[in-house]
Amino acid sequence: MKSMIKFSNKLAVEMLRPCPYVRCFHRCLATSISSSSQVQAPLNFLSGKRCDPSENIGNFDLKYPATDETLRQVPSSGERDVNEAVSQAREGFRSWSKLSGFERGNVLKRAANIMRERLEELAQTEVLDTGKPIWEARCDVQGCADTVDYYGGLAARISGEFLPLSNGCFSYTVREPLGVVGGIGAWNYPLQMASWKSSPALACGNTFVFKPSPLTPLTAVMLGEVYKEAGLPDGCYNIIQGETKTGQLLTTHPNIAKMSFTGSVPTGSKIMEACAKDIKHVTLELGGKSPCIIFEDCNLDNAVTGAMLANFLTQGQVCSNGTRVFVHKSIMGPFLAQLVERTKRMKIGDPYLEDTTVGATISKQQFDIVMRYIELAKKEGATVMCGGERVTVDPHLRGYFVSPCILVNCEDHMTVVREEVFGSVMSILTFDSEEEVIRRANDSELGLAGGIFTSNLQRAYRVASALEAGSLYINNYNVYPVGVPFGGYKKSGLGRENGPDTLDYYTQVKSVYVEMGDVEAPF
Ligand code: NAD
Repeated sequence: MKSMIKFSNKLAVEMLRPCPYVRCFHRCLATSISSSSQVQAPLNFLSGKRCDPSENIGNFDLKYPATDETLRQVPSSGERDVNEAVSQAREGFRSWSKLSGFERGNVLKRAANIMRERLEELAQTEVLDTGKPIWEARCDVQGCADTVDYYGGLAARISGEFLPLSNGCFSYTVREPLGVVGGIGAWNYPLQMASWKSSPALACGNTFVFKPSPLTPLTAVMLGEVYKEAGLPDGCYNIIQGETKTGQLLTTHPNIAKMSFTGSVPTGSKIMEACAKDIKHVTLELGGKSPCIIFEDCNLDNAVTGAMLANFLTQGQVCSNGTRVFVHKSIMGPFLAQLVERTKRMKIGDPYLEDTTVGATISKQQFDIVMRYIELAKKEGATVMCGGERVTVDPHLRGYFVSPCILVNCEDHMTVVREEVFGSVMSILTFDSEEEVIRRANDSELGLAGGIFTSNLQRAYRVASALEAGSLYINNYNVYPVGVPFGGYKKSGLGRENGPDTLDYYTQVKSVYVEMGDVEAPF
């Protein structure tokens, strides 16, 4: 997700040696946070402040994944509140879109600094929402602040072109905002989704209404408070909480100009269909089943680390994960030996402890999905080398902890090799030749990402150009420095986030022709 890391290169390499700073977190932290205002306060955000929906169309449970404890119930917003959020965003658009890019950018840059000041609070709350290890959450928040900063810097550079034409005439183009942008997010990188979508949207002069995943409603609201403190006018950033119905109301609202969605392929398809009715713009960041190719001439230590980064961050719940690990037959023995040994050493446990590297699966439902895929893999002929079991790390932590799983004897046709699991399940496949592995790697409906480990630069370039995916990593995996576009080929999505190209997806081009002479016509 996701920076994020979804994190920086250096932090990626440090994955199994989590940050040693701030050792004061422990289990009771979760208890103190769970009773804090972040959890108990209203979770819609309209007119620059938190509020409850005026009409409750149902409740959903907010749970801390590590304990599976229900922290509170959150009311879902219905038509009246979605209408109100969109109407406030329309009102906000009138003045926000008239500011210069420089002025808008200053607000975003101030917001980025406030996020950095509140990094620890944001990270702790992100852990409560997601169950991921605290050091990962810190990397995520740092990356989100960088993204907001980045778009703050780009805002002043959004401009058009001047085209000289014949006889002194000319034309110029202007990049104009679309209007009110709707966002809908998944649960694995909640703050990242709110910030990756809102900051380019706002930089371009749009206003924003976001619906977080019902599993992770907390940090997007905190981002609203950060924006407010940074000087964002009320109504420009709004949050409505809810489940499918709320998402549908937002998507189909006639005054939404664009939807930016992150989530599964089936939901993305429904969103695109709903947007087609009103010819709305759409960005879709969807699922993946990406290849990670380990050639015989790789640096073995780096390749093992890369394969682990490609599979085991955030409990394996990462869209860009390289879950099909293709290993050249000649190095399978040493690669597997090191991989299994290091994977067994990963520390499963309390997400607030500094040395934890595996936190809790987001929900029982997701845990059941992961376990079903592992059972099916075994039935279809795969062998579990390690992991794939529920682990009880502490009697107080009743959440769903799963030991990272490595499957061998996998074949391309197996369900676990073809479908996105969204859990820590790595499928190892072997190959003989470059041509063969490219063909097999591309044999997927999805095309989000991919990794190539080799010390042969020509081969690395060749394979990167042949792979059908939006984000490729040569000799690393799952690094997302700010400014590098992220998005999918094929069914993995449409549009790009995190880069300069993203601005194109939040603007439309107006062309103006200017006549400098008399009007000529044949009549
Ligand atoms: P999901 O599709 O089930 O739900 C995503 C969001 O859509 C939620 O907020 C949900 O409430 C909402 N929603 C569901 N049905 C809707 C509808 N009909 N109309 C409008 N909104 C609706 O996905 P999830 O389980 O939350 O997330 C996991 C998926 O997200 C995985 O497939 C993963 O690969 C993908 N993902 C992709 C990226 C990326 O950047 N490409 C990043 C993270 C996650």
